[in-house]
Amino acid sequence: RAYNFNAGPAALPLEVLERAQKEFVDYQNTGMSIMEMSHRGAVYEKVHSEAQDRLLSLLGNPEGYKVLFLQGGASTQFAMIPMNLLSEGKTAGFVATGSWASKALSEAKLVGDTTVVASSEEDKYMKLPDLSQLDLPANTAYVHITSNETIEGVQFSKFPDTGDIPLVVDMSSDILSRPLDMSKLDMVYAGAQKNLGPSGVTVIIAKEELINESPKHIPSIFRYSTHAKNNSLYNTPPAFSIYMVNEVLKWIEEKGGLEGIQRENEAKATLIYDAIDNSNGFYKGAAELESRSIMNVTFRLASEELEKAFVKASEEAGFIGLKGHRSVGGLRASIYNAVPYESCNALVEFMKEFQSKNG
Ligand code: PLP
Repeated sequence: RAYNFNAGPAALPLEVLERAQKEFVDYQNTGMSIMEMSHRGAVYEKVHSEAQDRLLSLLGNPEGYKVLFLQGGASTQFAMIPMNLLSEGKTAGFVATGSWASKALSEAKLVGDTTVVASSEEDKYMKLPDLSQLDLPANTAYVHITSNETIEGVQFSKFPDTGDIPLVVDMSSDILSRPLDMSKLDMVYAGAQKNLGPSGVTVIIAKEELINESPKHIPSIFRYSTHAKNNSLYNTPPAFSIYMVNEVLKWIEEKGGLEGIQRENEAKATLIYDAIDNSNGFYKGAAELESRSIMNVTFRLASEELEKAFVKASEEAGFIGLKGHRSVGGLRASIYNAVPYESCNALVEFMKEFQSKNG
């Protein structure tokens, strides 16, 4: 297997791919692939509801939350959230932390009024803003934050207390990477293709009161209430992706749940950050120390030329996806749940070797 450090779609657990391969043509002696079945049949519906239940169970079965499986990626949620939750006379509060928060904000602006309630733009998004004293306008409909900025490599370790104002979190690149206290979070959403499975399904975990009623002037397919009432079976769901999510969730359970996953993720991140910090300045972490992400490790070398040479040499050595996002440059190792510790170890060995040849 390649050493896959892609930012997304990203590595999937080998065990899950192999299990899926076994069942690919003939799912549990039905003589059919799960992809070929009716989404209204008992066999598929079991997978669908198992995936929902597993997700809630991994999050500690928070009371009053529902899971939706939608399509269109997290990007569609950038529009659907304000369409559903932002009404005339209200404003959506945005925490501007980087590229993805900016995209979410741009889309919300097309729908209604927005207010940037905290920003780290001045720090070029390499340091998270302090959210301990959020000053929210009285007419704030909801606050939107991006828990992990995939491109810049910064990640919140704590979530702000927004009181009665719903907190909506884009967790596309760190969902289920660590235990979560859902009591502060009103809606969490994520494209599946980093920590949950293949692309094609977007997962929403939301308090029922946020999604049970939606404005009637928006098309039915864009209303959360449509999907909530129909248990995400209003139209044909991305059945194979949901099946894969269920398998990934089983794998997380086998790893000891979110505590087990967190231990591994922290060990992997520590390994790589230590290699950066102990390189006598050859490698430099891009994000400020306290804001560092344990999912996307961003780092720099002394020149763009050297970074290009690093990418080339890494590819020749079998490492995939270490080039930073084109908008920010530099280097990035995305170490989502399914990236094995051994891959991180191999990367650290490669980094040392590259330094000894080029330092
Ligand atoms: N939000 C974050 C934090 C992301 O990392 C991404 C994709 O990389 C997106 C949103 C967009 O997701 P999608 O491609 O599912 O629309």
